[in-house]
Amino acid sequence: MPFFKKEEKQPTPPTEMDQLRHSVIDSGMPPEMEQATLKEVERIAKMGPGSAEHTIGINYIDYLTHLPWNHASEDSLDLQAAKQILDSEHEGLSEIKNRVLEHLAVKILQAGRRYNMLVVDDEKITRKNLKHVLTKEGYAVATAADGLKAMGLLENQVFDVVITDLKMEKVDGMQVLETAKQKNPDTEVIVITGYATVPAAVSAMQKGSYHFLAKPLKLDEIRTTVRNALSRKHTRWENRGPVLCFAGPPGTGKTSLGLSIAKSMHRQYVRISLAGMKDEAQLRGHRRSYVGALPGRIIQEIRRCETNNPVFMLDELDKISQDFKGDPAAALLEVLDPQQNTHFMDHYLDLPFDLSQVMFIATANTVDAIPGALLDRLEVLWLSGYTEQEKVRIAFNHLIPKETEANGLDNQLVSFSRQAMVKIIREYTREAGLRGLQRQIASLCRKIALNQIDHQRTGDEVMVTDESVAGFLGPRRYAFEVTQAKDRIGVATGLAWTHTGGEIVFIEATKMRGSNQLILTGSLGTVMKESAQAAMSYIRSHVDTFAIPEAFFEEHDIHIHIPAGAIPKDGTSAGVAIAVALLSVITGLPCRREAAMTGELTLTGRILPVSGIKEKLLAAHRAGVQTVILPAKNVVDLVEIPDDIQQGLNIVPIEEMSQAIGLVLKNNLSKAG
Ligand code: ADP
Repeated sequence: MPFFKKEEKQPTPPTEMDQLRHSVIDSGMPPEMEQATLKEVERIAKMGPGSAEHTIGINYIDYLTHLPWNHASEDSLDLQAAKQILDSEHEGLSEIKNRVLEHLAVKILQAGRRYNMLVVDDEKITRKNLKHVLTKEGYAVATAADGLKAMGLLENQVFDVVITDLKMEKVDGMQVLETAKQKNPDTEVIVITGYATVPAAVSAMQKGSYHFLAKPLKLDEIRTTVRNALSRKHTRWENRGPVLCFAGPPGTGKTSLGLSIAKSMHRQYVRISLAGMKDEAQLRGHRRSYVGALPGRIIQEIRRCETNNPVFMLDELDKISQDFKGDPAAALLEVLDPQQNTHFMDHYLDLPFDLSQVMFIATANTVDAIPGALLDRLEVLWLSGYTEQEKVRIAFNHLIPKETEANGLDNQLVSFSRQAMVKIIREYTREAGLRGLQRQIASLCRKIALNQIDHQRTGDEVMVTDESVAGFLGPRRYAFEVTQAKDRIGVATGLAWTHTGGEIVFIEATKMRGSNQLILTGSLGTVMKESAQAAMSYIRSHVDTFAIPEAFFEEHDIHIHIPAGAIPKDGTSAGVAIAVALLSVITGLPCRREAAMTGELTLTGRILPVSGIKEKLLAAHRAGVQTVILPAKNVVDLVEIPDDIQQGLNIVPIEEMSQAIGLVLKNNLSKAG
């Protein structure tokens, strides 16, 4: 009998470093990054556990291993279901919905295609097994017993994926890889390697192979690697198209549409706002040497949504801060450009992350402030705003159900009359989109909720009528017929296009004793100042036509002011309205207030086309304008104007300034040339 009882040998528990190594291997990161990360783990292992650098290092590896390197959600390929989701959540917007459905249709076609594979291996059994597995997956599989035969096949046929052994006699896998990529850069190449050739496989990856598979081959690994390679190929195809950018005033559904797109494709949804972003590090992270360094917002969101193919909204692209440190266009191009975003470099990660499967969608109010290089990558889809009829429909079908539910009310018991809704739209909101309307409906619902609880009448039916609206929302905020005020001398009604949509602006001109000075106020930009000067020169060169006394200009100063003086304004489209205001003050003839104008004026009195016609017409209609005068060349834009707007407005296209004068100045001066 032994003197000591032999102790049972307990397996040593894994150390923190072992766990870290395992989590690196299990994280699914590409092999070359796995190697780099494992090296980093070894570096950390050598540091004392108490040191700050050790903790920072461990946090870093932990962050890396929790990124969705190869975890993508599976896209839904059901076009009908997608259409139903898009239609049920957003009224109208058919152009944008169709664009999304086209995107899905391409995906569905690609998914239904039979893919061509080429297997190159000098071991018969490997060829046979691979062919068996891949044929069962539905691919068409050709095989080659050596590199030379493979080259022959590559000469005559295009393959989607080539799987090749690395070590072969005469022509090796590296040459097969190079030829395949040379023939068709879209072909994905997967190399098979024995343990001894892992470094060679890594160098093959640097030459453009997609992945490597180590022998002995595992069936599951083969299937997933090939599927992932095909999906990357798809994404590359899709991403060759531009990135969608929804542009339009606030509250027109840009962000919520992104959410519906994500739902319809069964993808995760993430969103960051670029408004006021000042520093490239906010996008791309800080280097780890920084105290408290973090990854940038892009990588943070990718990690949070746990998949590498979410729908990613880059909100308010036009609002990146003017004093952005670094070049915002360059940073964003790296994210949006398919040539660059397969290896997006976040400073914290310090390793490239593949963003090519992400579906980026940008939003902006206007596109003027977006740098040209970036705008080139975007396909801008405009959401101009809604007509009153559309707003009423959206309110009944979407906003009321949403807000009654959000405020704990019974949808069956609370109802709104149509007139009540029109009253809310006309008298409590003045906007192109729906934010204000949604806010007013929410406020009304809260008041009903309070009423019901206060009086213990939760089971009662409530009908909101146009008479009861003021009781809930207080006195009206806006007068619908802004333009019903008196016609005035020197005040012309113009139409402007701002980042909040179309707007009515009253351009004021006044004269006083002086000596031919033109004073311009109201935060006018250079271009607008110049168009005011051009309008003045046009009038001065036509003094005879307008019967203006010779000495008028020598004896007077003229002041033009565009109210809302604190808001910067620019552009050429106020030219016609400025000229009318000037002529009105000089001649003493009043301007018709209900006739709104837009158009650029040349020195010779021709009218040139302008942009934002839909937004401007919507604004005119909202404000109760009756006549809209616009450049004849803009008539082409009228096709996209809803019928109710066209019928509700008298739209007059003009080619010459004389026509505008004839239409707007009372007791007109239409002899002008
Ligand atoms: P934006 O991003 O353009 O500022 P939002 O997406 O925040 O606008 O939209 C504001 C609100 O209006 C949301 O509640 C949205 O669901 C609703 N909305 C906007 N457009 C539509 C539409 N066409 N149909 C239904 N609801 C809409």
